[in-house]
Amino acid sequence: MPGGVKTDIRTYQLYINGEWVPSQSNKTLAVYDPASEEVIAQVPDANGEDVNRAVAAAKAAFEDGPWSATTAQERGRVLFRLAEKIRQNAAMLAELESRNSGKPIVEAEFDIADVATCFEYYGGLATKILGYVNPVPDNAVSLTLKEPVGVAGQIIPWNYPLLMAAWKLAPALAAGCTCVLKPAEQTPLTVLEMANWLTDVGLPAGVVNFVTGLGESCGAPLVTHPDVNKIAFTGSAAVGKVIVKQAADTVKRVTLELGGKSPNIFFADADFEAAIDGALFGVFINQGEVCSAGSRILVQKSIYQNFVDAMVEKSKKIKLGAPLDRDTKMGPLVSQDQYDRVRSYQEIGKKEAKLATGGGRAEKFAKGYYIEPTIFYDVSNSARIAREEIFGPVATVIPFDDERDAVKIANDSPYGLAAAVWTRDIFKAFRAVKALRAGIVWVNHMQPTYVEAPWGGYKQSGFGRELGPGGIEEYLETKQVHINLNEQPIGWY
Ligand code: ADP
Ligand code: MG
Repeated sequence: MPGGVKTDIRTYQLYINGEWVPSQSNKTLAVYDPASEEVIAQVPDANGEDVNRAVAAAKAAFEDGPWSATTAQERGRVLFRLAEKIRQNAAMLAELESRNSGKPIVEAEFDIADVATCFEYYGGLATKILGYVNPVPDNAVSLTLKEPVGVAGQIIPWNYPLLMAAWKLAPALAAGCTCVLKPAEQTPLTVLEMANWLTDVGLPAGVVNFVTGLGESCGAPLVTHPDVNKIAFTGSAAVGKVIVKQAADTVKRVTLELGGKSPNIFFADADFEAAIDGALFGVFINQGEVCSAGSRILVQKSIYQNFVDAMVEKSKKIKLGAPLDRDTKMGPLVSQDQYDRVRSYQEIGKKEAKLATGGGRAEKFAKGYYIEPTIFYDVSNSARIAREEIFGPVATVIPFDDERDAVKIANDSPYGLAAAVWTRDIFKAFRAVKALRAGIVWVNHMQPTYVEAPWGGYKQSGFGRELGPGGIEEYLETKQVHINLNEQPIGWY
């Protein structure tokens, strides 16, 4: 096996108040390698009592602990040191991420580098949180102060495990919040490894806590906890809707990133080779387990048949393989559940549309949740495979007549996370950019994501934005301060 993979089963505990502690539940969850289908670790199946303990630690660290007295400069330096630790341990983290999630090692390496960049970006931003002087008409100084929102509960998915944790921890810590983070039950390992460095980099006990467990028994208690001031969630739309309802009783601030059914639009004048590449990359990167996957491929009718043929031909060259092989372009899906789900959509698709290629399990692998890159064409935009998020390597190709038609189909979706448009006509490109109802629009590319630029969706893809300078706002409260400069009494009575 490449990379000197260890075959021992690791056992982890919860990370609360700067210590490894057992769960009150005395139960554990098995963590799998989706290529071998073997158990590689055991983590606590944390319950509500564990969540209470973690929240209490985060609350104490926020209210009384040294964190509340740190300067922005100190918080920035902590984040820089954490980024440095990530870079020093990048090879180990990438290998563990790849093993646990099934993603190709080369992609995992990109992810881990992005994790470090994210901590660096928000480390820098910590000292750029500015207030305002408001131009009120009376003899007074009116100020706007920005303050940390308090204890942040952060619930993340399994497709980019450590990166999703970084997207949430970095702005929260820069803002001065404290955190209780729950990784996805399928992929908790890199987050737990990171816990080993938190004290070394200067985070006081209780500032960051990790609880591992299932959505209902560990995620939900975090959402309903009265001492949690904000929930940041990335995951499925179904769970996002539950979280909004659960957060209502304590009127929590909530931000949601819920995925989508993003259109990738190809006009006839696009560079053909680049377009085929872009269509495949948009939907098959990370096995299609990407919230912004370009899973609806809209192609202008004059190039449609050639486009489908070329996509099929090129898709057959995509190398499926062991996640740790450096030339693997697609690994197994993350879990049996996700495999079953994607397989069921392949079967639904066969009834709803024409199958161009794929459509089943990748049979050359004796073990592992491998799915063939699958392309359906002549798909109606009202078909289930065009409306529901599949979260796997399943593309739906939809023909369109003209610009109006393309935009209409693209926007006809409950989701609005991302969209892409391919054309050599700058006027057409910009008209489409303005008309598309999506939080991220790419022109002649799909998927590049930068910590410097905002990320989030329109419509049922959620609300709030992560990344970029605005990402920190979600962890800040706004306090208005009025300082009277008149020394006389008000004189009203
Ligand atoms: P998937 O179905 O692909 O696993 P989910 O949206 O269920 O996606 O999972 C994303 C994250 O949300 C995971 O960490 C999961 O444990 C958590 N989660 C699932 N259900 C709930 C819930 N009811 N309350 C809070 N968190 C949940
Ligand atoms: Mg789920």
